Amino acid sequence: MAFFNRQENPPQYSDAKVYKSFLRQDFRRQCAYCERTEAFLGGEEAFEVDHFKPRQRFPELATVYRNLYYSCRKCNLYKSSTWPSDERAKAGFVFADPCIEDPYLAHLREHLDGALDELTACGEFTNGHIRLDRPDICAWRQKRRGARADLGTFRSLEQNLLRFLDFAGIHERDQIEEQLGLVRRLIGELQDRFLIS
Ligand SMILES: [Zn+2]
Repeated sequence: MAFFNRQENPPQYSDAKVYKSFLRQDFRRQCAYCERTEAFLGGEEAFEVDHFKPRQRFPELATVYRNLYYSCRKCNLYKSSTWPSDERAKAGFVFADPCIEDPYLAHLREHLDGALDELTACGEFTNGHIRLDRPDICAWRQKRRGARADLGTFRSLEQNLLRFLDFAGIHERDQIEEQLGLVRRLIGELQDRFLIS
């Protein structure tokens, strides 16, 4: 579950794509919308610079950093140049802004199978247009749920091994430290792949 608080302060560029390296940092290498990570989607190449307020409608924001979001290719494609009419926006049908609040807490609710409930008009508009309920993203949410459980298991294992280490004899230490290294590597892989802690 993500909320993005920008820290980067890049200079003004005339090409939005140049901001990508800054966006990678501010969005922690994950999609602003579906939250899938670079590690999961195969790297930076799977990501693009999205204009939260589309260029066609808001040309003055085309290269304004705060209007640029880090998005996977699919979410950017589905979101495209969609923007609500003033009338729809007044009724709450707007895109959830992950730089203001966590959409998955405020507007959407995740089920055990990874599907989403739309809690608000904003959730309905966001899910309807970006299609955050598509099967590959539901599968990702299920995997992330499983990864959180695995992470808890590995952390308990790590604590147990550390306790064993306190009482281990000289011959057992090497073996325990080897196991500790393995467990910590698995913890690191899960954290990297799913950005969980
Ligand atoms: Zn995405």
